[in-house]
Amino acid sequence: MKPAGGLVIVGAGLAGALLATLLARRGWSVDVFEKRPDPRTRGYEGGRSINLALAERGLHALRQAGLQDAVMAQAVMMRGRMVHPLGGEPMLQRYGRDDSEVIWSVHRGRLNVAMLDAAEAAGARIHFNQRLDGVDFDRHVARFINDHDRTRREQAFTALLGCDGAGSGLRAAMAPLVDLGERFEPLGHGYKELEIPPADGGGFRIEANALHIWPRGGYMCIALPNTERTFTVTLFLPSEGEPSFASLPGLAEARAFFARDFGDALPLVPDFDRDWTNNPIGVLGTLRLRNWRLDGRAVLLGDAAHAMVPFHGQGMNCAFEDCLALDAHLAGAEDFESAFAAFEAERRPNAEAIQAMALENYIEMRDRVDDADYLLQRQLEVQ
Ligand code: FAD
Repeated sequence: MKPAGGLVIVGAGLAGALLATLLARRGWSVDVFEKRPDPRTRGYEGGRSINLALAERGLHALRQAGLQDAVMAQAVMMRGRMVHPLGGEPMLQRYGRDDSEVIWSVHRGRLNVAMLDAAEAAGARIHFNQRLDGVDFDRHVARFINDHDRTRREQAFTALLGCDGAGSGLRAAMAPLVDLGERFEPLGHGYKELEIPPADGGGFRIEANALHIWPRGGYMCIALPNTERTFTVTLFLPSEGEPSFASLPGLAEARAFFARDFGDALPLVPDFDRDWTNNPIGVLGTLRLRNWRLDGRAVLLGDAAHAMVPFHGQGMNCAFEDCLALDAHLAGAEDFESAFAAFEAERRPNAEAIQAMALENYIEMRDRVDDADYLLQRQLEVQ
C-alpha cells in the first residue's frame, strides 16, 4: 500500500513511539495521542517498572528505527543471572558462552523520551494530555479528552492503531463491535519496587553487569542495574497466603520478612521504609484475545493485544517486534484489512508462545535457578 490517509496511534509509550517512527519514515501521515503529559517537560509518569531488560529481539527493532546508538549509550550490560541462594554465596550463571550473548538494562523513562524525539524527527505529530474517550467507527472519528482541563477534541482517522497498553481504551471501544474473546488471567502475585543506591564511593554496591535474583521457592526478588549506579529491586510475592502482600500489612512485618528471607539484600536498601511505604503494589497477569482487529479500521498491538507477566523480560521486546511486523504488512498489503489480518496471523501465535514462556519462567527463576540438578544441566548446555 502507498501511504494515504491519516493513521492515528493511541498511546505514545514504548510501542506507540516506535511505531510512529517507523510509519512516519515510510511517508505515512501519523498523529499520536497520549493521555499523559509530555515526559520531556513534565518528567516521566510511567507508573511502573523503572528499568527493563532489552534483548536482541527488541534491539533489532530499535536498529531498524535508527535508535540503537541513543539507547545503548544509556544501557547497562547484563551477562547473566547472579543467583543469591538463602545463606549461600552468590553465583553467576551466564546467558551464553561469552559477552556476545547478553541482555541490557535500560531505563523506561529515558528510552521513551529517546523514542518520542525520534518519532517527531521522523515527522509524526504527538499530542499529549489526550486520552481516547470513544470512537465513532462509522464516521471514522476518534474522541479524546484532556483529563486536566476537561477539554475535548475529535480526530478523523483512516485507521486506528492501538498502542495504549494493558488497559487499552481502544480495545474497550472495539469490543461492542467485534468479538475480541477477551480474557484477563491474574497471576495472583504482585510486585513492589525498592532501590539500592550507589556505594559511598559512588560505585555499584553489587556486581553491575548481572541481573540479580534472590530465589525463594514461591516468591523472589530481582535487581537490575541503572546507569546512575543504582539498582531497581523488584519483590514478586503472592497476593494472598503466607507469606504474601496480605500477610505483611505494616512496615514491621515487611522488614522482618526481608530480614529473614533476603538478609543479604536488606542492608543494600537503606531507604527500605520509604520505598515500602511509598511504592504501590503492582498487578500482574496475562491478557488473552482471540481477535486483535476490527476489519480495516482498527488493530491492537503491544500490551493492548497481549499483556504478559514480566518473567521472561519480553513484553516490550515483543511489542517492538509487533511494530516492525505491522509496518512491513502495511507496506506490502493491498488494503488495511488485509494488512491487519496478515499482521495478526504472523504475530498472535508468537505472542501467545511468549506469554506461555513468561509464565513458565517465573517458576524457573523463583524455584529452580539454585537447584543443583538444574545447574548441572545448564553447565552442559552452555559447554
Ligand atoms: P505501555 O508501555 O503500557 O504504553 C501504553 C501507553 O498508552 C502509555 O503511555 C499510556 O499512558 C498510554 N495510554 C493508555 N491508555 C490511553 C488512552 N485511553 N488514550 C491515550 N493514551 C493511553 N518487558 C520487557 O521486554 N523487558 C522487561 O524487563 C520487562 N519488565 C517488566 C517489569 C514489570 C514489573 C512490568 C509490569 C512489565 C515489564 N515488561 C518488560 C513489559 C513491558 O513493560 C510492556 O510489555 C511494555 O511497556 C508494553 O509497551 P506498550 O507500548 O504496548 O504499552
